[in-house]
Amino acid sequence: MRLKKHYGQHLLVSSGVLKKIVEEAELSSGDAVVEIGPGTGNLTREILKAPIKELHCLEIDPQMVEEVKKIQDQRLKVYNADASKFDYCKFGHSLKLLGNLPYNVASLILENTVFCYRCVVLAVFMVQKEVAEKLIEGSSWLGCFLKTFFHISYMMTVPPRFFIPPPKVQSAVIKLVRKEDQEIDPKSYKEFLTTLFSFKRKTLRNKFPEDLLRQAGLDPKKRAEQLSLEEIKKLYWVISSKSPYPPP
Ligand code: SAH
Repeated sequence: MRLKKHYGQHLLVSSGVLKKIVEEAELSSGDAVVEIGPGTGNLTREILKAPIKELHCLEIDPQMVEEVKKIQDQRLKVYNADASKFDYCKFGHSLKLLGNLPYNVASLILENTVFCYRCVVLAVFMVQKEVAEKLIEGSSWLGCFLKTFFHISYMMTVPPRFFIPPPKVQSAVIKLVRKEDQEIDPKSYKEFLTTLFSFKRKTLRNKFPEDLLRQAGLDPKKRAEQLSLEEIKKLYWVISSKSPYPPP
């Protein structure tokens, strides 16, 4: 089969890494699992070895959909859909997400995972190593977005030779575990974070009213990347309770 570069098709062929991804998801009976980008089904088969209740696969390439459908298992459902736009909560209220993500849309899928955080308890994803490191560092809007809703941990580095065809970069497996009691609306929080992290070199007072910054206990001369996640959340609360801002 010809693999499509524009769909980020790099098949994971290391049985050790496939096992590790499934192991990290701590699957048990009764689990409803969603796999993003099953491709030819390498990870799908490994997931189905676990005693789960059901597995929903989201795959954008119709040809791959036909491939995965060849797997005979009552628990498997395959959908031809774009996982970066799909509402995962349609599959249940307590889901585990797994996937060797297509690298060109990995950020969008991570963002979508946050938008669906109410129904996602855990996710184990393969992404580019550089993306994994940046997210964990938390100095980007997406890193903060993820870290507000999930604990992120770096599981392992995966070299290019474990894929067919090998990608140009190193990859990494990350694990997201939902933080409980987050009562933040992802939509307005995203707007706030993208404003906060826009124009990296600008100071906070160029982006938000100074009185609100002081109210949040922040030095207006600081920059976004100098703030801790706690400070960022505090600023969000101050600003969102004053919104629309700036005040008249
Ligand atoms: N899980 C397989 C394939 C990973 S490659 C394996 O590890 O071997 C990434 C897969 O994601 C490809 O099958 C690609 O067609 C699919 N894909 C790409 N963009 C997608 C999107 N927006 N939504 C769902 N699947 C997508």
